[in-house]
Amino acid sequence: MFDYHIHSEFSDDSSEKMSNIVEEAIRKGGKKLCFTEHKEFNYPDKNIKFNLDYQGYEKEFERIKSIYGEQIELYMGVEIGIQAGEKNIQELIKYTNEHKFDFILASAHCLEGVGLYGMDPKVNNLDDLFSKYFREMLNVFKEFNDYDVVGHIDLIRRYFLEAQTHELGESKEVLRELFVHIIQEGKGIEINTGGLFYDSANINPTLDIIKFYREMGGTIVTIGSDSHIAERILSNYEKAMDYLRCTGFEYVTTFEKRKKTLHKIKK
Ligand SMILES: [Zn+2]
Ligand SMILES: [Zn+2]
Repeated sequence: MFDYHIHSEFSDDSSEKMSNIVEEAIRKGGKKLCFTEHKEFNYPDKNIKFNLDYQGYEKEFERIKSIYGEQIELYMGVEIGIQAGEKNIQELIKYTNEHKFDFILASAHCLEGVGLYGMDPKVNNLDDLFSKYFREMLNVFKEFNDYDVVGHIDLIRRYFLEAQTHELGESKEVLRELFVHIIQEGKGIEINTGGLFYDSANINPTLDIIKFYREMGGTIVTIGSDSHIAERILSNYEKAMDYLRCTGFEYVTTFEKRKKTLHKIKK
């Protein structure tokens, strides 16, 4: 079992100790864990900035690895917040250039400069919201390609009640463009089981989108719990694997020093 989306106390929205997470993962039989602490640029909330203390993170990661490294493989990644706009993109490029990670998960937590979390949940045109969200990611990825995998690509479903069962209309064409781009660039998407703990009670993305990605020729997928507390580490892993099996994926991917390894999925 691999978990490639984990937050510890180095993320502004978690207070969990790395050691608790690693011990819980060992108990559950985990093989590879990758921490993906939040790093945002210009996050539009004055109470939470999602800055990352890289040096502190690296130091604690190395300490934890020296204690548990024989029992479980540990990796140091980041969940980097992406937003359109020249200034944001220049900061993204600079930051990823200057910092070393095993894995970079690129996630859009904002839309047109507003945080999705806490946005007015009533929207007039839901499909339009999906279109805008996919379009903003595509615009960023046309200029920034120093990442490995796109995080929770249908995050809209997590925060907008009606979006949970929304069947993509015209926005599916924008998603198609986004997938073409991601696949051409050799990047992947993640299967994020964290959404099962929200009201949405969905894996992100939903099965139809995972299937669409596969049909488009997508092969690179990581699995992540998006856990902010130790007990959720590796949660619903088998469910994610079932999603991959039934949509025709043969491999699940992990990363080390930004290089991918494919692991055959047992039938
Ligand atoms: Zn996220
Ligand atoms: Zn996350």
